[in-house]
Parts: sequence; structure tokens; C-alpha cells
Amino acid sequence: QEFLSNRIKSMATSQTLAMAAKARELKEQGKDIIGLSLGEPDFNTPDFIKEAAIKAINENYNSYTPVDGYVELKDAIIKKFKRDNNLTYDRSQIVVSTGAKQSLANVAMVMLNPGDEVLLPCPYWVSYAEIVKLAEGVPVEIPTTVETDFKITPEQLEAAITPKTRMLWYSSPCNPSGMVYTKEELRALADVLKKHPDIIIVSDEIYEHINFVGGHFSMAEFEDMYDRTVTVNGVSKAFAMTGWRIGYIGAPSYIARACNKMQGQITSGANCIAQRAVITALEAPVSEISYMVDKFKSRRKLILDLLNEIEGFVTTEPQGAFYVFPNISHFFGKKIKGHQIENASDFSLFLLEEAYVATVTGDAFGNPECIRISYAASEDQIKEAMKRIKTALKDA
Ligand code: PLP
Repeated sequence: QEFLSNRIKSMATSQTLAMAAKARELKEQGKDIIGLSLGEPDFNTPDFIKEAAIKAINENYNSYTPVDGYVELKDAIIKKFKRDNNLTYDRSQIVVSTGAKQSLANVAMVMLNPGDEVLLPCPYWVSYAEIVKLAEGVPVEIPTTVETDFKITPEQLEAAITPKTRMLWYSSPCNPSGMVYTKEELRALADVLKKHPDIIIVSDEIYEHINFVGGHFSMAEFEDMYDRTVTVNGVSKAFAMTGWRIGYIGAPSYIARACNKMQGQITSGANCIAQRAVITALEAPVSEISYMVDKFKSRRKLILDLLNEIEGFVTTEPQGAFYVFPNISHFFGKKIKGHQIENASDFSLFLLEEAYVATVTGDAFGNPECIRISYAASEDQIKEAMKRIKTALKDA
């Protein structure tokens, strides 16, 4: 008998990690799997950041850090927010955490009471719904489609708000759709939120620098939204530092204080060496990492060109991040190579088993007609993967 809490029993396993595990299993059986399921840059952390970490080790940074982060790191974050986002925060408003994932979990734990509703424009990043549920909140999905560029309208937002709505969470650039909300679109959403002053906004900007159209805008830049927005960011994606586990928030002081209190009982401060390295990362000009963004941009073109050659994939042109999120409902109800395809999970599994290409079902992100394909992979891998998918679907 296993004695586990209802909390963990009702939590869904991360479907991106589940797909990666399945792909690994096939790999171990000798199958040549191309992994396009994980949200992870295929670059190494830039040398100047690695050197800062080595220096920190040699300088004996090995003790517990302040729970909410080294003061020097907070100052680097404050400068970054000012430089990149025109946002003014002071030290009392910054909390450094073990990845943006912990930042989000902190916010959910300190803001939600049982039954509080959190609006999640679809598609949303996999963990949002599970983190909200863990904090006894209720995720409320706002659906979108490929035809509306996977963006919600002010009318949809208004219609989704109830007396129980406590927060709105979204990412822009969006994982998984790659779409970026413009300043005007955010203003239209802010105009709705203005009428509902009890709703707090979580703006997840972790893909900020991986933006091919320019024009990143933070919700907190609107004066009337500043006091009710938590800006979440981190170094995992743009700096190719997923394993270093550093994320952070800029927030109203009372929320930052609560996150600090929560973190103080759960993990204490984030890793000391990683924090020192991130000071260097954030102080560097953004141009230091543009070589990676340029690569993602050319891969985006490559994968879109190749996907367009395959009938049945309907996709937007992603504006940021490193995913395409095609609608593949064309294949629903079809039997292909003995596989009955009824939904996106069937299709994603079909691609894994017949084309040996790992993707993630859109179900995981609240859009059951789509799949997510990551193009954080080499051009050769992208070409080969698209060739295999085309071949597998030849008779569909
Ligand atoms: N937010 C979004 C939208 C993400 O895609 C991810 C990572 O996949 C995270 C947050 C978490 O990032 P971190 O590695 O900093 O925990």
C-alpha cells in the first residue's frame, strides 16, 4: 500500500517530461529518436557566464545566501528591469528563486485560497494549471485558436471573470504558441482588468529576449497595472542556463515579502554559485546572446518552410520562443499505418512510434487540436525530423 496525499495523487505528471521519458525508452531500445519535445536551448551556457561561476567557487561562495537572493544580484535584476523593460523596482520588490518555476509556485502559494480562480489563456505553459491546483486554486481556461493567433480578446477576458477570479497568468512570448502580445493588445486587456481591481496579473516573460518581431512589452509598464502585476523572468532560456535554476520576480513589496517567507521555509535561497554567475549574465549587454536568437530565427524559417510542405499542418508564424504549435485536427478520425488518430495525443504518439520524432500533445497546454514542436535543435535534426514526418504521413 502506498500512503500518498490527495494533493500529489491528483497532480498530472508533466507531459513534456513524460514524452521525454518515453523517447528515452525508445532510444534505449536502439531507435534513432529525434527529440523535439523539450523546452531547452541546445546551446551551452556562454563562456563568460561559466567563468563567473568558476570564479565564485574559487572565491568561496559556499554559504547560505539571503533567502530572496544576494543584494548584488537583486541590483543586477533591478538594472535589467530598468534597461530592458522600463520598470522601476527596489530591492524590497525582487525575489530570486530556484528557477522561474519556483517563482510561479511561490506566487500561487502566497496568493490563492481554496477555490480562487486563475484565468489561463490557452495555450498556456504546462505547469501553470498544476501549480494553481497544488495551491488549491481552480484553473479556468480561456480557449483560443490558430485563426486568432492564439490570443485572447478583451471580450473573452471579461466573460471569463467571476467574483472568484483572483489572478490572470500568461506568458508572452508564449510557450507553446510563440505568440507575442503587442502593447495595444495588452492595453485592451488592461482596460478590462481596470474594472476588476482585485485581480492580480502574472506576466511570465522568460522568453523576452527570444523575440523575432521586437516590441516586447511588460504589463507592469502600464502605470495602472504596476501595483497589481508580478513580472516573472529568468535566465534558463535566453542564456541557455536551464540547469542552473535561477528565476526571479519583480512585484509589489507585500507579494515579494510573502514569497520570501514561503521560500524561507521551503528551499531557502537559490544556489549560491548560480546566483553569482547570473549577476554576470544580467550585467552583460543583450547583444552577447543575440547569436543564439539569430540561430533560433533561421531555424524557425526552416521548420515553417518544411511544415508547409506537409498537408494537414495549420500553423501561425511564431513571433518568439522556440516552438511551433500547429493545429493537426486534419488527421482526426483517420487511420494511418494502423494507428487510429482521434486526438492530439494519438497523433503525437504516432509521430514518436512511426517517425521517431518526439513532440508534445497540445492537451498538455489546453489546446487539444494542436501539438508543440520545439525547434531548439540543429538544422540537420529539424530537416531529418520533417522528412520523417512527411514520409510517415504519406498515405494519410
Ligand atoms: N515559464 C515558461 C513559459 C517556461 O516555458 C518555463 C520553462 O519551460 C518556465 C517558466 C520555467 O523556467 P525555469 O527553468 O526558470 O524554471
